[in-house]
Amino acid sequence: MSKGVHNMFKATAASPGIAIGKALVYTEEELNISKTTVEDIDQEIKRFENAIETTKTQLKDVYEEALEKLGADKAAIFEAHLMVLEDPELTNQVENKIKEEKINAEFALKEVIDGFIAIFESMDDEYMRERAADIRDVGTRMLKNLMGIEIVNLASLSEEVVLVAHDLTPSDTATMNKDKVLGFVTDIGGRTSHTAIMARSLEVPAIVGLKDITSKVKKGDIIVFDGNEGIGYINPSEEILKEFQDKKVKYETYKKELEILKDKPSITIDGRQVEIAGNIGTPKDVEGVLANGGEGIGLYRTEFLYMNRNDMPTEEEQFEAYKKVLEAMGDKPVIIRTLDIGGDKELPYLDLPEEMNPFLGYRAIRICLDRTDIFKTQLRALLRASIYGNLKIMYPMISSIEEVRAANKILDEVKTELDRENVEYSKSFEVGIMIEIPAAAVIGDLLAKEVDFFSIGTNDLIQYTTAVDRMNEKINYLYEPFHPAILRMIKMIIDHAHNAGKWVGMCGEMAGDPKLAPILLGLGLDEFSMSASSILTTRKVITELSYKEMQEMANKAINFPTANEVKEFIEKSIKS
Ligand code: PEP
Ligand code: MG
Repeated sequence: MSKGVHNMFKATAASPGIAIGKALVYTEEELNISKTTVEDIDQEIKRFENAIETTKTQLKDVYEEALEKLGADKAAIFEAHLMVLEDPELTNQVENKIKEEKINAEFALKEVIDGFIAIFESMDDEYMRERAADIRDVGTRMLKNLMGIEIVNLASLSEEVVLVAHDLTPSDTATMNKDKVLGFVTDIGGRTSHTAIMARSLEVPAIVGLKDITSKVKKGDIIVFDGNEGIGYINPSEEILKEFQDKKVKYETYKKELEILKDKPSITIDGRQVEIAGNIGTPKDVEGVLANGGEGIGLYRTEFLYMNRNDMPTEEEQFEAYKKVLEAMGDKPVIIRTLDIGGDKELPYLDLPEEMNPFLGYRAIRICLDRTDIFKTQLRALLRASIYGNLKIMYPMISSIEEVRAANKILDEVKTELDRENVEYSKSFEVGIMIEIPAAAVIGDLLAKEVDFFSIGTNDLIQYTTAVDRMNEKINYLYEPFHPAILRMIKMIIDHAHNAGKWVGMCGEMAGDPKLAPILLGLGLDEFSMSASSILTTRKVITELSYKEMQEMANKAINFPTANEVKEFIEKSIKS
């Protein structure tokens, strides 16, 4: 029967493209450390000192790299790690333990590190408590060096690899050397998880949610996979390898052909023009959006400015980041979303309590309306940056009119403050909200009177409407954008906005799915915002369709009873 089925893997197609390359398995294994007695104490201490030296050299390298690629702020964390390493209290305690108890360096180090972590974690001062994480990181690095376990540094990969990981953290993806990463395959995650979104913005192919791929692949295995379909092979046969090489050439040719659409408008054959914009997480991502012909930024997720660090970004740092994006985009619209932390995105220094239902908890605008100090700093930075381009401010996770009014009241206070200080800001920027909670969709007619625009956040809207956790791969099959309830909800939101004379965009992952573009167009969506790598494919779909026909199709499609029937109907309609 079919060749190579035993080494095939298949899960969620998270980022398009074909990857062929050697695997690098990137996992955080539990270190198994047991206590042994040692005869040669001097030799054991020497081993420990060597591990310190190796760790120091590695940390200095990582620090330099981070400084160059990410700036002083992000690099500071590695400086803190070096300081832990240079603390004589730590090294003396380990050496004394080795001497007095005649035990192996690994065990002595582990005990001392655990003791330090316990002390720091029990401190009253929040800043000191956070140092526990630094000690844990440095301790793990030293232990690995002692045990001869390879430490993979994604920032300084020297050869091209396919990354095989359980999951990738925001700091992994932020520091990795993108030029050497041919693709990602991960155990966990779905289309809207952080890793998937990052893969699309880095424009590397990815498959996520493979459950156990890290235990099936060994370093150096050859991996081929197709990120459009979510299928791949470990150590493929000659025949399959050839098949993927051909696919790769074909895909690259297709991408080249799309390039002619780069500077073209996104306009249907019967003249309906929409805007296709890009989603970004950092100012660096603007480049990819422009290179792919993005007509604006439909979502700048500012929370990445706050993540991977030990303290809040200052007004000045935020101002610089927002200004950079606005200037790079010229007069093209840039929607900057205010802080959307909580849920799947944590901020250790905010010390948020553990919650039973973080997605339904203290997050996003709820935090901002409570911690107005944080919110005001961000709004000040945004307003100051507003004179450098075409800014639109957007509030996330709005569930009621009261929240919009409260946020706008704070915005007014910030304006008054800036007026008083004679600080310049634009007087004409738009303020909009994300519609990602069903309650907001239902009262869209009322909300539309209070704001300038809506942007539909389908990643959350789907999870809240269908009660399906967007992060849980066990119930991934229920996370269904074609669900008639979702499409009807979208229609309702668009109609509410249009009836009030407001425009409506979409910045959830649904906007960048070419299979959904026809129905979203037909339902009247004005702006589609997506990962840079999806822009040209979506433009191609739009430019080949008739708006009138898609309107008729969409009105019929939302009456089909199942997601599959909706899907089939859309496919049939665009072929005919
Ligand atoms: C969404 O919920 O659709 C969205 C765009 O926001 P995030 O994915 O950041 O929650
Ligand atoms: Mg959201």
